Amino acid sequence: MTSKDLADLIFPNIDKTIEDYEKMYPERDLEEGAKVTRFAPSPTGFMHIGNFLSAVIDYVLAKNSKGVFYLRNEDTDKTREVENAVSSIMKILSTYDLYPDEYEFQEETKGNYGPYIQSERKEIYHAFIKHLIEIGRAYPCFCTRETLEEQRKNQEMDKERTGYYGDYAFCRSLTIEEQIEKIKAGVPYVIRFKSSGDFEKKFIFDDLVKGRIELPENDQDVPIMKSDNQLPTYHFAHLVDDHLMRTTHVVRGEEWLSSVPLHIDLFRSFGFRPPKYIHIPLIMKKDEETGNARKISKRKDKEASMSYYEEKGYPTYAVIEAIMTIANSNYEEWHQAHPEKDFTDFPFSPKKMSSSGAYFDLEKLDNISKNYISRLTKEEVYNGVLSWAKKYDADFCKHLEDEKEKSLAIFNIEREQKKPRKDYINWSSIKSQVSYFYEDYFYEDKEKTYQELEEVENVELLKEYASTYQDYPTENEWFEAMKQFAITHQFAPSPKMYQEDPTLYQGHVGMICEALRRVITGRKETPNLFQILAILGKDELQKRIQFYQDYINQ
Ligand code: GLU
Repeated sequence: MTSKDLADLIFPNIDKTIEDYEKMYPERDLEEGAKVTRFAPSPTGFMHIGNFLSAVIDYVLAKNSKGVFYLRNEDTDKTREVENAVSSIMKILSTYDLYPDEYEFQEETKGNYGPYIQSERKEIYHAFIKHLIEIGRAYPCFCTRETLEEQRKNQEMDKERTGYYGDYAFCRSLTIEEQIEKIKAGVPYVIRFKSSGDFEKKFIFDDLVKGRIELPENDQDVPIMKSDNQLPTYHFAHLVDDHLMRTTHVVRGEEWLSSVPLHIDLFRSFGFRPPKYIHIPLIMKKDEETGNARKISKRKDKEASMSYYEEKGYPTYAVIEAIMTIANSNYEEWHQAHPEKDFTDFPFSPKKMSSSGAYFDLEKLDNISKNYISRLTKEEVYNGVLSWAKKYDADFCKHLEDEKEKSLAIFNIEREQKKPRKDYINWSSIKSQVSYFYEDYFYEDKEKTYQELEEVENVELLKEYASTYQDYPTENEWFEAMKQFAITHQFAPSPKMYQEDPTLYQGHVGMICEALRRVITGRKETPNLFQILAILGKDELQKRIQFYQDYINQ
């Protein structure tokens, strides 16, 4: 009996060989230096910022080198699968313009290297496992869960390294006859990889982020095919896929770093050249309570989940910019020097990535976002807010649509000028900043409208001002008229004059403006008053002052 008999017994229906697959998925015909990258999420949850960072890097590496970026659905663990996980991943990739060149989604396959869903590649994996059995680099293991559990406990008690290796790899030494006999007798089994390493020896490899890494060689005979669903484990499936899909660069979280000796052992067992590895560091944040840096937690931190940025309405541009600055800290400088370029033109360098932990802070994102929104036209701001509101705030959406001209005028305040306003952080926060313009919101609830304010005196004076109000063509003309009004009512036309001798005046022009601002907006601080008045107009101005008077007299 030979290992071929064993392989045929385990996989009687597999007749394709590795060579057949090599022919089906030949080397890609790409320019020299083109990178082939993949985003390979497991559909076990929703996308978090670490996954997103690796997808962005994958995308930039591929686009920058005229390569290929593909999506692979790593769904080998069917028990942990979450419904809609893949569609939400696709949605995020498309929202951020990171659409893969090759993928398989909703019955559509793009690309010649598929299937791109691991559960559809069972036959391919089996051919590869069959080959390993034939060459004696994989074997069936009949140890039961209970035996393995007991072995682990004993190892722990003896202070030994846990796992299935060396003398502990009991089934490694079964003869082919014994293996065949057990299989024929129906004893359940898994397939294990026969490792070639020696734990006492150093395994050295170069990670593109971390540099030279030294780890012990792999001597664990890990399972590569679980008996339950006959799909391989991640370790094995990714090797087959990355090879056949001709991946050149693997970008993934640093939690995989310690598996590299095993992965390279697997690649070598087939005589394949492993891809280059880019293990990206953990994403860190400053803890709100302690002020210390810590890992962003999926459980505790809202900003760990990509859905947060959508719900908050951060422009996608800002999120990408913030992520790119985590990827390489010189990104911002580069973009300032090349404002016309796209992020995909950035020469991303894994070496320049922080290897100890990538720091992400929301303040930074807010800053990028504020600056970005400040450069947009009123139409762009309108469209941004509107598309956010369509999904998250139906009432505000209706106001934006019904009062489009007014909304555009609102978003135009202090915009498209040398020093544009920078107080809009994201689409979701804009409503509360502009709600007073909309009559429904302003008049909805007097208490709420004026909750921030102490009482404003001189309401009669404001009423009189309103009766003289006109549409002024320029801010200058408006302010001249305002000063005249002040003088007529014993108010100084400038704070300076008032301070020189306060006994001469009732107050100064700024005080009238402040009182007016408060009464007509319910806020202590607003953008330019002239522009607000221009949008509201005389009738509304009078109506609001009366509203305030009713409020204080009630
Ligand atoms: N499916 C693995 C994960 O989601 C991918 C790791 C890799 O990119 O190789 O963690």
